[in-house]
Amino acid sequence: KKQKNIRNFSIIAHIDHGKSTLADRLIEKTGMLTSREMQSQVLDNMDLERERGITIKLKAVRLVYKAKNGEEYLLNLIDTPGHVDFNYEVSRSLAACEGALLVVDSTQGIEAQTLANVYLALEQDLEIIPIINKIDLPSARPEEVKKEIEDIIGIDCEEAPLISAKEGLNIDDVLEEIVEKIPAPKGDVEAPLKALIFDSYYDSYKGVICYIRVFEGTIEPGMTIRMMSTGKSYEVTEVGVNTSKHMSLDKLEPGDVGFVTASIKNVKDARVGDTITDHKNPTDSPLPGYKKVIPMVYCGIYPAEGEDFNSVRDALEKLQVNDASLVFEPETSVALGFGFRCGFLGLLHMEIIQERLEREFDLNIVTTAPSVIYKITKKNGEVLEIQNPSNLPPEAEIEYMEEPIVSASIMTPTDYVGAVMELCQNKRGTFLNMEYLEEKRVAMHYDLPLNEVIYDFFDALKSKTRGYASLDYELKGYMQAELEKLDILINGELVDAFSIIVHEEKAYERGRNIAERLKDVIPRHQFAVPIQAAIGSKIIARETIRALRKDVLAKCYGGDISRKKKLLEKQKEGKKRMRQIGAVEVPQEAFLTVLKYD
Ligand code: GDP
Ligand code: MG
Repeated sequence: KKQKNIRNFSIIAHIDHGKSTLADRLIEKTGMLTSREMQSQVLDNMDLERERGITIKLKAVRLVYKAKNGEEYLLNLIDTPGHVDFNYEVSRSLAACEGALLVVDSTQGIEAQTLANVYLALEQDLEIIPIINKIDLPSARPEEVKKEIEDIIGIDCEEAPLISAKEGLNIDDVLEEIVEKIPAPKGDVEAPLKALIFDSYYDSYKGVICYIRVFEGTIEPGMTIRMMSTGKSYEVTEVGVNTSKHMSLDKLEPGDVGFVTASIKNVKDARVGDTITDHKNPTDSPLPGYKKVIPMVYCGIYPAEGEDFNSVRDALEKLQVNDASLVFEPETSVALGFGFRCGFLGLLHMEIIQERLEREFDLNIVTTAPSVIYKITKKNGEVLEIQNPSNLPPEAEIEYMEEPIVSASIMTPTDYVGAVMELCQNKRGTFLNMEYLEEKRVAMHYDLPLNEVIYDFFDALKSKTRGYASLDYELKGYMQAELEKLDILINGELVDAFSIIVHEEKAYERGRNIAERLKDVIPRHQFAVPIQAAIGSKIIARETIRALRKDVLAKCYGGDISRKKKLLEKQKEGKKRMRQIGAVEVPQEAFLTVLKYD
């Protein structure tokens, strides 16, 4: 096995442009799997991923390809997640490659995440091979899209394969381009071990499995390795590669991509981006670019009524074993009791964790509104970082507050420029500039408060542009802002789980909006229930749920008994999902109400 016959590459694309479908075709064409084994989208192996059509965890697979020049090549295909929340993982997996296939949907053209991914690939000095996909569709405009790629990204598209990943058209051209254009890895086998961890996950039989790219030296079972960011050492138990299944090998050498197991108990000890070296003969410098990922969005997760606190903790612990970017710590809420404050990379990451708790662990949970991290400078000079609105100190003690700002790029057809501007303005955005991508498409750049982005910005953008706009953003820094805590009182009682931090300009609107929504979801009681929104002691909105007049069974008099029974049962079932707040029963869905915004 020679380095000159190895090619390490990723596929990058905007979501839905056909990355997974192309990966399937490449796997099929190289004959690693029989058609019987071939399940569609073999790389997305979590159920949830398949349903949502997104790739959460990146993985690597080794293909064997006999090229037209008669030589056999090992192609290591490294899958990357396609969403902004997972940008750091994308950049690490690209660092394991020499090249990237840039898949562009020929009916759509370049979109926000196409560019974001191209920038990441350029940062890693990768050879980028453009691939024009979906040419089977009548609306395909391959020539225009080629020109767009040349103009905007500046890479030559003369030889770009025109393919249909779905119908398997011209896939050979892609394989030949990989062999011809992507440089072979170069690494010194005699040097001390230097390997990059680009993914890791927990397996209940083998412990943590690290996916690595070896740059220098050799890694083999029995040797002691050291994680450079933590200094911890482990004995290697197995190394190998993924073909259609795990395949053990006696060693991995420079240029190789594969897995290593070493009885590591927790993915926290095998962080993505870390460098593995030889404990006995360590390298003097780690590979560049390691950073610890920090959560951007927080929310409270509480067991629903009748659900056990300990089972929620167990589930979170299990998820964390596999997801080093999930953080949580216990907290208490007056309204919801004992629960957890959890930190996520972004909103999608948050939704995925919530869904996995409900689906894989069969738990009923209540989540509070997501919050970002605010920096509070108190009059006494103390600086606090607040993730939970309830922990905000009294206003009199606060000198000023700062909120996180992201720089966002939005790509949209020119028809929707007005709508996008209106939306961004409404979300307190600062316009930076706008550039034409082609005659009828522009890229708009805004600074936006993350606090606004996490409230349905993406949904609003999609609906205002009929799905045509795409969004990408990254954290820029912190900026001072006039922020306030908005509280909700139900029947005169402050419900801490409803508290949010808002910009003062938005306080009235949000307060009114939440009060109206709560009025709709909280059932009527025997007495009138006032709902109030307040800033400090000032009430800014009020709604009243009128008292119930009739007995629920009243209208059943004379009716058949089974109907009455059903009604009672339904009521009982409804009760299970209620939260008792003082004398008022609040349905669990009410807690989601605070998240919605229109
Ligand atoms: P990804 O998000 O980039 O991984 O995109 P997928 O591979 O999941 O594809 C998104 C959608 O586009 C799926 O419904 C695919 O069936 C479809 N698709 C992918 N490639 C082609 C193609 O060449 N032609 C057509 N017509 N549809 C395609
Ligand atoms: Mg996919």
